[in-house]
Amino acid sequence: MGCEAAVLKPEYDAIVIGAGVCGIYQAYKLAEMGRRFLVLEQASDVGGTWYWNRYPGCRFDSESETYGYSFSEELLQEWDWTEHFSPREETERYLQFVVDKFDLRQYMRFDSRLKSAHWDGENSLWRISTDDGQSFITRFLLTAIGLLSTPTLPRYEGVESFKGEYFHTFYAPKEPVDYTGKRVAVVGTGATGIQVISEIASQVGTLTVFQRRPNWCAPLQNSPIASDEMDRIKGRYTEIFDICRETPSGFYHNVDPRKTLDVPAEEREAFWEDLYSAPGFGVWLGNFKDMLTDEVANAEFSKFVAKKIAQRVKDPAVADKLIPKDHGFGTRRVPMETHYYEVFNQDNVLLVDIGETPIEWITPNGIKTNEKEYEFDLIIYATGFDAVTGSFDKIDLVGKDGVRLKDKWEDGPQTVYGLSVSGFPNLLTLAGPQSGSVATNFPRGIEEAVEWCSGFLDHLFENDITYFNPKKGPEEFWCDHVQKMSERILFAREQSWFTGYNSNIDRTYRSQCLIYAGGQIRFRQFLADEKSGGYPSFELAS
Ligand code: NAP
Repeated sequence: MGCEAAVLKPEYDAIVIGAGVCGIYQAYKLAEMGRRFLVLEQASDVGGTWYWNRYPGCRFDSESETYGYSFSEELLQEWDWTEHFSPREETERYLQFVVDKFDLRQYMRFDSRLKSAHWDGENSLWRISTDDGQSFITRFLLTAIGLLSTPTLPRYEGVESFKGEYFHTFYAPKEPVDYTGKRVAVVGTGATGIQVISEIASQVGTLTVFQRRPNWCAPLQNSPIASDEMDRIKGRYTEIFDICRETPSGFYHNVDPRKTLDVPAEEREAFWEDLYSAPGFGVWLGNFKDMLTDEVANAEFSKFVAKKIAQRVKDPAVADKLIPKDHGFGTRRVPMETHYYEVFNQDNVLLVDIGETPIEWITPNGIKTNEKEYEFDLIIYATGFDAVTGSFDKIDLVGKDGVRLKDKWEDGPQTVYGLSVSGFPNLLTLAGPQSGSVATNFPRGIEEAVEWCSGFLDHLFENDITYFNPKKGPEEFWCDHVQKMSERILFAREQSWFTGYNSNIDRTYRSQCLIYAGGQIRFRQFLADEKSGGYPSFELAS
């Protein structure tokens, strides 16, 4: 037992930061537990990712019926998805529907961004303040602040001098943008840029794509869900969630137990053809078991996809620029696309390889590379995020002995299960770095995390425990384990947001895996053992 004793009674048992997919479910659980709690949300409404990213073409790559919450059969039966991979607007409506159905708005404060959270050891509570000048006191602090909530603009000189319109995709305007006839630039070709490009290419006057490094993309194969199909889905939800529970990533797709080179070439090609033409992430997560762990196997499949790109893009020189040479298929997050490669067959679309002709600066009229100046009416920056830890860094979060979380994580995050941090008592980081939920079909992963955290809180409340602090030993174990799990997979060697890479920020650490690559089944087992063992990784006190 620790020595800290609670003196002052806080106004809240728990404060949740964020009303996105994760924060909403945590709010539901706290309401069910009958706790005094509050949700603080920086946006003007619920939705998190699905509130902010109003860029054209935004949708998820999860099969829609696997993205909804699984906790309420009534909710499952009431909600109809209209597309196999739902567009942003529909997912936002879904989250609003959930919040209204369970009457959760009463606990939420909008336009309220967490500015600081300071641990008060004497009273065993958190003192927090928001940007709008409010202060709150809570026993437990729960962060549900998203993985990709801190967008980064490029550091080119002159970004603000541009006289036309410009935005980062995360901050795309609420009001519909008219692209008709405009000269538009898109900088960045990750999952976001690829959706934007595919969506607006047919609307704009001209589209110029500034690509630094190409990504391996594959067809999403989206389609509408007819009402009779939705009825059948509603009859299968138990089976659907059971399937998702038994795959490492929480999707339908599971790895094929065969090794690539054990399968005769013709059979291999046929298998890959099927994967390439099937909907969703099967091509990435349902491939041969060594595709993401063995370089030779990975190179074979990369050749297959390169051939597909070459077939889809008419100009061989353009096709060649679109084929990645510096990394293998799936070793960075695979953007799923809808006619992306065909866009480059349009006369109004130009690909500028800024690996060859780098951008020098942004001018009042457009973008200047070392070759020429391009003029635009609109520049869209799809340049990614200070991922996973970026949103924590923005908060003045101070734990025991005046230690700042940002300083503790200077060389990379250190956590217990990605859900708690030693030296930061009574803090639960619901979808924090190194947690299993951040590497899965998100709602499936966060349901695990929220349920475990709610069970833990229940245990604390029932036993009048007012203080917990993760121990150092388990934290060292978890960091080591996260690293070992990621080293088995080829993506640990690549520069991407999975490994904390972002050229637009100064990071003190590099190549630290920010997500848990051990899979949700293993992660779930760790959490179950922790609970059944009476929470041995935590120091607890009344
Ligand atoms: P991202 O994957 O980090 O891609 C950023 C892109 O911008 C990369 O092409 C990068 O080039 C380029 N870039 C960054 N800084 C640049 C600079 N200064 N100059 C030129 N180019 C620059 O970010 P994202 O596309 O926003 O995607 C992030 C994640 O969000 C995805 O991986 C995914 O998890 C999620 N997401 C999901 C969906 C979905 O469910 N369908 C859709 C969109 C996003 P380099 O590669 O050379 O760094």
